[in-house]
Amino acid sequence: MIVLRYGELFLKGANRPRFESLLRRNVERALGALSGHTLARAQGRLFVTMADASEEEAAASCLARVFGLASLSRAVSVEPDLEQIGAAALAQVEAHVERHGRPASFKVKARRSDKQFPVGSPEIGRQVGEVIFEATELPVDLKNPGLEVGVEVGVRSTFIFTGSIPGAGGLPVGASGRVALLLSGGLDSPVAGYLMQKRGCPVEAVYFHSPPYTGERALDKVQQLAARMATTQGEPLRLHVVKFTAIQEAVRDGAPAELAVVLYRRSMLRIASRLALSSGALALATGENLGQVASQTLENMACIQAVCDIPVLRPLLAFDKAETIALARKIGTYELSILPYDDCCSLFVPKHPATKARQKTLLKVEPRLALEPLEDAAVEGVEVVGY
Ligand code: ATP
Ligand code: MG
Repeated sequence: MIVLRYGELFLKGANRPRFESLLRRNVERALGALSGHTLARAQGRLFVTMADASEEEAAASCLARVFGLASLSRAVSVEPDLEQIGAAALAQVEAHVERHGRPASFKVKARRSDKQFPVGSPEIGRQVGEVIFEATELPVDLKNPGLEVGVEVGVRSTFIFTGSIPGAGGLPVGASGRVALLLSGGLDSPVAGYLMQKRGCPVEAVYFHSPPYTGERALDKVQQLAARMATTQGEPLRLHVVKFTAIQEAVRDGAPAELAVVLYRRSMLRIASRLALSSGALALATGENLGQVASQTLENMACIQAVCDIPVLRPLLAFDKAETIALARKIGTYELSILPYDDCCSLFVPKHPATKARQKTLLKVEPRLALEPLEDAAVEGVEVVGY
């Protein structure tokens, strides 16, 4: 079986039952593609048993992506009986040696939550350690062991494991409010979405599509990113595809070129906040970063944000590009993001966009563009794809 340990969930007192049931739901969904499993809760842990034991490794790697888990271990369960525990622990150590070679030393770490069990945890550790030492002659090192053997004796379950893998951390998706993520095909926004999910927010993705300037392949890439993000969401993810061509053309034809990016963004935020309202999202999220590209200055962000009255969250604001890239690689969005199809913000944009747009200027230019009916039409014509 696989033992799942909670992360920050523990800290949440009264919310714990709700978080726990979200976590269970998300675990179920993460395992949905595999052939079958049972999920049980005991001793402040979750236990997954796969119907087909050969799928255990695949299951562990799916589960390592579920937010709200601190760590997981593949384990074997035994009867709460010291002799059986000793034999099973020895078998685990032998299997470890076969797979990874002999460790320099070992330690048994025992935990007893079943207070009916007649032997205390230090004594369990000592006795099981002795069984292992006698059979393998591996030295014991309590401070810095090469291999740690975990034994947990609980009311409902007794199990043994060697080693654990880190969980995804964060909070279970669903524990926090919903956000509408502006998802372009670039590197940043999928990572921003991942970080929002990690804080427990289900994501509603919004993509601004400008055919024929941005092609079907750009849309396809965003759809693949959305599908990828759905795998860490724990509930269905919806992608809202907004047709943005008419708005971009109106800005191109009617506004000074250096203001184009800021004007596109203002329009995007107006539309996205309307979609957020209708889908129950409490905030917008973007992949913006302070200072990485010319248009992303505090002055511009202030002008862009001024058009909407819900919060605009920017989880990558203080990231270095290298940090974003490293995270994109880790979560599997990098390879998709670097596919070379243009996104609409690079359309009709001058070499030197304004780095310090002023609200006053924008308020003068914007009414001349008559964007309102175009934005209404864009909202009405949204196409929603579910993952
Ligand atoms: P990204 O890598 O996410 O595209 P970026 O560093 O390229 O970000 P910009 O292209 O300036 O920066 O976009 C800033 C943010 O605006 C993006 O992270 C995204 O949240 C949003 N955005 C830009 N273009 C689109 C689009 N076509 N559809 C939806 N959101 C967009
Ligand atoms: Mg981009």
